[in-house]
Amino acid sequence: NLSDKLDLVFKKLRGQGVMTEENVKDALREVRLVLLEADVNFKVVKDFVEKVRSRAVGTEVLQSLTPGQQVIKIVHDELVALMGGGEDNSLDLAAKPPVAIMMVGLQGAGKTTTCGKLARYLKSQRRRPLLVPADVYRPAAIEQLKTLGRQLSIEVVDARADQDPVDICRNALQYAERSGFDTVIFDTAGRHQIDDFLMDELVRIKGAVEPREILFVADAMTGQEAVNVASGFNDRLDITGVVLTKLDGDAKGGAALSIKAVTGRPVKFAGIGEKLDALEVFHADRLVSRILGMGDVLTLVEKAQSVFDAKDAERLQQKLKKSQFDLEDFKSQLQQIKKMGSIDSILGMIPGVGKMMKQLQGAQPSEKELKRIEAIIDSMTRAERANHSIINGSRRLRIAKGSGTSVQEVNQLLKRFTEAQRVMKQLQKLGPKGLMKGMGGLG
Ligand code: GDP
Ligand code: MG
Repeated sequence: NLSDKLDLVFKKLRGQGVMTEENVKDALREVRLVLLEADVNFKVVKDFVEKVRSRAVGTEVLQSLTPGQQVIKIVHDELVALMGGGEDNSLDLAAKPPVAIMMVGLQGAGKTTTCGKLARYLKSQRRRPLLVPADVYRPAAIEQLKTLGRQLSIEVVDARADQDPVDICRNALQYAERSGFDTVIFDTAGRHQIDDFLMDELVRIKGAVEPREILFVADAMTGQEAVNVASGFNDRLDITGVVLTKLDGDAKGGAALSIKAVTGRPVKFAGIGEKLDALEVFHADRLVSRILGMGDVLTLVEKAQSVFDAKDAERLQQKLKKSQFDLEDFKSQLQQIKKMGSIDSILGMIPGVGKMMKQLQGAQPSEKELKRIEAIIDSMTRAERANHSIINGSRRLRIAKGSGTSVQEVNQLLKRFTEAQRVMKQLQKLGPKGLMKGMGGLG
């Protein structure tokens, strides 16, 4: 973690009052590495480190901070500024309806999925969105959007693969006007690479529907390539914003920094899962914390709050205090986790849990597994659920029989549970205050 590394770098420095060219050099090397590791474009990194250097050199080391923390604070603040922190990143929907939103990006970036997520989000904001399938090339792309529309009870206009995408879009806008839709979301085609044919088509669609927003959808895993692709789209289409998808994966999100730096356009939303509710309004400070490896605590807290039933949460807190996390809680935790999204997307946000997370990978149950786990736990007696250590060999056999599983599966579950118990203990050690303190150091 960067904080530890920098503290190490600055150990030598204690007692010296001012940061000099000489003594920030090592720290900046660490900063550089962290950013490159997070897939920030190397040119962007170079400019950025220069900026931090000029701000850090000559700064007095504050009494309350270690020099390492102080550099982190500068890095953090500068990164947030670079990401457009504090700027208004909301969608521009104020125009006379119907307002057109056009999604663009490479194939597989997540355009179609994001169309569904965005429509859902807008509906929750009491708007009336219409979805338009304008990708006539990818087989079943129209059907994909229709399916999403059905799931969301949001209308998707009819279109056929032999129609001209520009016509589809123009007609859809007129239809929206007649039928009282206030927002129209256009799902366009993508390619594996930027090519002129596609760009020409997108430019024509833009001309036909005059979108208020052209959102460039980018896969967070794209890494270094993201910069070229983003500027390619921006040069032709003059995008208004970016949606960064697949932030639930391993990507640290450095691509977002690069794209913002190169296009000057803000990241407006983040995709954090395949499901339709896995979309967040983008927060620069959270991404920066993620890149710097300090855990995205605020996101976690908010997310947990929105899903956890308050009473459940309270009960869990009490249990945690008394270290009484038992199999019954484990069961309801698994259900909560399913509601919240993947286990690593949750745990990855907690500082210091990265390592534990690695161990737990693969611990996320599928629907089927969850059913099995429930069956096993349901086959236990109350005493067994409250205290798993009494579950000996013969009890395991009985539980396996009762739940229609094998002893091996029961063993596996118990192993998983003890692991979860350990994580819960760790979390409890940090405590909500401890978690917040980790962030507080950054001011
Ligand atoms: P398109 O070609 O740009 O329209 O991309 P799609 O919307 O078809 O998405 C491609 C794949 O990425 C699908 O399997 C989606 O489920 C997946 N996907 C999209 N957004 C996200 C996200 O935020 N997280 C994850 N994990 N997967 C996503
Ligand atoms: Mg698509």
